Amino acid sequence: MSTPPGIAYINQQFVPMEEAKISVLDWGFLRSDATYDVVHVWKNRFFRLDEHVDRFLDSAKRIRLKIPVDRLELKQILAECVSRSRHDNAYVEMILTRGVSPTFSRDPRDADNQLICFSIPFGWILPPEKREKGLAVAISDIQRIPPHSVDPRVKNYHWLDLVMGLFDAYDKGAETVILKDAQGNLTEGPGFNIFVVKNGRISTPDHGVLEGITRRSAIEIAGELNLIVEERAVSVDEILNAEEVFATSTAGGIMPVTRINNSPVADEKSGKLTKLLIDTYWQKHTDPDWSIGVNEVLSLSAQPETLSRV
Ligand SMILES: *Cc1c(COP(=O)(O)O)cnc(C)c1O
Repeated sequence: MSTPPGIAYINQQFVPMEEAKISVLDWGFLRSDATYDVVHVWKNRFFRLDEHVDRFLDSAKRIRLKIPVDRLELKQILAECVSRSRHDNAYVEMILTRGVSPTFSRDPRDADNQLICFSIPFGWILPPEKREKGLAVAISDIQRIPPHSVDPRVKNYHWLDLVMGLFDAYDKGAETVILKDAQGNLTEGPGFNIFVVKNGRISTPDHGVLEGITRRSAIEIAGELNLIVEERAVSVDEILNAEEVFATSTAGGIMPVTRINNSPVADEKSGKLTKLLIDTYWQKHTDPDWSIGVNEVLSLSAQPETLSRV
């Protein structure tokens, strides 16, 4: 089996990526019964590690999974994966699966929850050399799984709506997709949130979406630049008539969307506000308030104050 180079933590051990394997009886595999999170490392620094760890711990609690390590141990396992992989720029994933029930009983309480972490080279939804060109998206009629069925604030693998949406988009000549909710408003795409700019005002869907950390970063950066972001329902009409559209994801940061349903967004170029947000976003990667060195994480010790918040 060929895999990207990296190191994984699985069954309490660090192993080369190609040896990181789970049982086919793991509920994570059989039922998508798992949660996960992805944080990235840029130039040997984790970006917003605490925010990702908070979301992961919160997701686990919401779907009644128990993490077998504490917060500091989790951070150090992630840092260890990156350090042993010798990646300067990395895509770092933490996964908690329901695990295997020793008797294969149908009671999820019988399963042993399993923590898996890994570091692979950083991957982009939109590579930097394509940033000026931007993303071409299609808006699909496939409805995003409704929030009262699967809580979208829990990062999860219930992706068939998003994956079928991707095929729908490829059929329509687009690169990626945005799904709608039952009311026909925008939700999100496969691993990214969406923002629309009209009359200089920025808006982003406020429900039925995963509350992305990059989404939050874009909102906070906009705030620092004295731009207001409205979190509210956003209609298809608004995106089709927008001045600028951008997507946000850990896998690539802030990305201009320049074509929707085969029509250009404004003049089909990355917009002014989008560019400003992208530049500031990347500057934040060396700011100690937003990032922490991989080695710094490895040398943290369990002081009361570092356990609660680092
Ligand atoms: C991970 C993810 C996002 C983006 O979240 P980030 O924290 O910014 O990476 C958006 N939507 C879905 C469905 C996701 O899984």
